[in-house]
Amino acid sequence: MSQQVVTRFAPSPTGYLHIGGARTALFNWLFARGRGGKFLLRIEDTDRARSTPEATQAILDGMTWMGLDHDGDVVSQAARAERHAEVARQMLEAGTAYKCFATQEEIQSFRDAAKAEGRSTLYRSPWRDAAADTHPDLPCVIRIKAPRDGATVIHDAVQGDVTIRNDQLDDMVLLRSDGTPVYMLAVAVDDHDMGVTHVIRGDDHLNNAARQMMIYRAMGWPLPVYAHIPLIHGADGKKLSKRHGALGTQEYRQMGYPAAGMRNYLARLGWSHGDDEFFTDAQAQDWFDLDGIGKSAARFDFKKLENICGQHMAAMDDAALLHELQDFLHVTDQPTLTGAQAAMMLEGMYCLKERARTFPELLDKAQFILTNRPVEPDEKAAAQLDTVSRGMLKELTPQLQNASWTRDSLEEVTAQFADRKGTKFGKMAGPLRAALAGRSATPSVFDMMLVLGQTETLNRLADAGQQSD
Ligand code: GLU
Repeated sequence: MSQQVVTRFAPSPTGYLHIGGARTALFNWLFARGRGGKFLLRIEDTDRARSTPEATQAILDGMTWMGLDHDGDVVSQAARAERHAEVARQMLEAGTAYKCFATQEEIQSFRDAAKAEGRSTLYRSPWRDAAADTHPDLPCVIRIKAPRDGATVIHDAVQGDVTIRNDQLDDMVLLRSDGTPVYMLAVAVDDHDMGVTHVIRGDDHLNNAARQMMIYRAMGWPLPVYAHIPLIHGADGKKLSKRHGALGTQEYRQMGYPAAGMRNYLARLGWSHGDDEFFTDAQAQDWFDLDGIGKSAARFDFKKLENICGQHMAAMDDAALLHELQDFLHVTDQPTLTGAQAAMMLEGMYCLKERARTFPELLDKAQFILTNRPVEPDEKAAAQLDTVSRGMLKELTPQLQNASWTRDSLEEVTAQFADRKGTKFGKMAGPLRAALAGRSATPSVFDMMLVLGQTETLNRLADAGQQSD
């Protein structure tokens, strides 16, 4: 039986969930979920000065909104410091690490001299091969005894073989003199202990992989598969930054993009499956593999995001859409829907979601539901309600009173009415929109009538008929 796939997302809690981080999490999630594997979450909070509980919470919220559920408990890297130190001591015992007593000044003068002589400034500690009985009783760091010859080759699933000459790597510190582990040790130990089989992360970590591999090798641990994914660039091809607009997932949530659309769009950002642009989570999980990840940076394109989001809104289950719409109202501090509004939204969702790409667009179409009597027409709509139109609405009202409230019969009643008046339905649509929604751009008149119901429709028509010039 092949080994169960275990992936992880390992953000540092120093800010919100960045869009690049969300994509990294998504790739790991897709890869694990599509293979019956596990997707773990580790908070890399070892930098106590920069890590905050608020940032951890923001990351968790972002993951929840994105629908990226993880398995098991959230692992705190800082809480595992003792285990990291233990591994450093094991390496010491095994002779794959050593105590280094060099002071900062000694290291600095080594570097100054190397520079002056045009040699590599990588520190070469004289303690590497020193016998234990020569050790002074002084504070020391623990350094890895890194191989000096040959090369470390990262067999990267995205970048191919990446070779780093070992003489370009120093004996990095594993444990500081105060006994605290360094980040590189923590990552390698945690990935090993968590049983991570595939490390999928941004290519800004590619060089770290070589150092982390050295720890794996020193401990005799089997290596995970590494997949370093290119970063996301802005539409101008430059590294994504504040200048390009929103960076955090929370901002996308507040702009009203549906999470399913975000997942689809972010999955396509740097990964492809033939020409498929629009797909479900199930398809993405089924199709996602490391071979489909591109080697060059993907460009973030708002137009494409909107397009994909629109397709997801149209395809989404109405109740789920309403639920997400309510979340959108909540995170943007807008009034919650009344029970009656929510019921009408659900009933009208089939037409509201048509061609809406974001929740603000959907809400715009739902304005006729959100507005209360008497409906205040905007300027354009008010122009539709002249004396003639108002007279016509007044006359139409009793016909609608007797109509059964189905699309067919509403269409029939209005068509007959238009006939009798020697006009076209098209001429009546403007005043009807103005009376029912107070707008000139709305869903179809019949959709609005059906969603509002007979009583509310007649009341709104009566209100408009009564307005004076
Ligand atoms: N904590 C690192 C970051 O937020 C990720 C480390 C890793 O994935 O190995 O960039």
